[in-house]
Parts: sequence; structure tokens; C-alpha cells
Amino acid sequence: MLGVKAYNSFGMTEMNGPGVAFECQEQNGMHFWEDCYLVEIIDPETGEPVPEGEIGELVLTTLDREMMPLIRYRTRDLTRILPGKCPCGRTHIRIDRIKGRSDDMFIIKGVNIFPMQVEKILVQFPELGSNYLITLETVNNQDEMIVEVELSDLSTDNYIELEKIRKDITRQLKDEILVTPKVKLVKKGSLPQSEGKAVRVKDLRDNK
Ligand SMILES: [Zn+2]
Repeated sequence: MLGVKAYNSFGMTEMNGPGVAFECQEQNGMHFWEDCYLVEIIDPETGEPVPEGEIGELVLTTLDREMMPLIRYRTRDLTRILPGKCPCGRTHIRIDRIKGRSDDMFIIKGVNIFPMQVEKILVQFPELGSNYLITLETVNNQDEMIVEVELSDLSTDNYIELEKIRKDITRQLKDEILVTPKVKLVKKGSLPQSEGKAVRVKDLRDNK
């Protein structure tokens, strides 16, 4: 409406606020100010660096701060370093959009799972709304994952159709997270609404 082009920026209060990384005119990732920050991407579980291009937790070290330096500060933000050179000519690395928070990660059957992986699949179905809840339970000493998701206004009442959609979601989730969840389609408005940041994971397992 204003006729201006908007650029994405990454920042955090603990660093210098907004503009720790910024998009260039290519708008294909955000260039980090590598003269001011040492950037690492680690596996949030092991603390080890992930291979280049893979998603992990962003860890920052300030290089030019004098009064309050931060060394290997864990941001809890999940992103990846984009491979290759940027056509704009800048050589500073680029990070992808923030994909979520590492504190949202859970482990089931030895697999690390982020809610964003589940969300990525769910948003592809127009029959689904945006509210969902992942519940983890122990059943017969086994971990079980239940994904409840609200239907949207575009959904049908036809049971056979709904069952087809449910199976399709289950299969696609399994392909993405390598664990087969129980998928339940629920009526719009039946999942708890959270104020502020949505609670996506409820862990009711015996041994968390
Ligand atoms: Zn660039």
C-alpha cells in the first residue's frame, strides 16, 4: 500500500537489537555481519556443529563488544546457513528465516522432532485449520505421538472423505518425521486456545 519494499531482518536484544543479520536486494536469506559476530549452527542435543546447510540452533559470539561480550551464546533460534554465494557480491554468510525454537524440540523413539516439521505438513491441507496439538504418551511402555488438528471451514462432513484426508496426513507426517503418529481430526474451536505463544506439545510420558 505504501509502495515500499519490505526487507526481513534478524535481531535479538542480547546482541545489538534488530539488524544482526539483514536481507540484501536479492532477498534470499539474511547476511550476517560476520565482522561483528562469529556464527555457529549446532545440534541442540549434542552441542556439536551440524553439517553446512542443515538446520540447527544459532550460536553467536560477539567480536567487537567491549563492555558485555557474549561467548557462544545459545539463541535457541533454529535456522541454517544457506550454501553458496549470494549474487549481490557480499561474502558474509546468509541465514535462512528462523524456523522455530530449539526448546520446542522433543525426542520420540530416538528421533529429534520439531513442531515446525509437523506444521509444515499440516498447512498443506486446506481442510485443516491452524490450531493443532501434539500429545506424547506412554502406552504399554512405548512412546506414542498423537497429533490433533482442527478442521477448517473448507472441510467436509463426509466420513469417508475425512478418513482419506486423515490417512494422507499420517503418511506425509511419517515421511517427514520418520515416526507414525496417531492423527485425530477435531472440530474447529475444540482445541485449547492459548494466549500469546501457542502451546504445541504436551508431554505426558512417564519418563520424559
Ligand atoms: Zn546478498
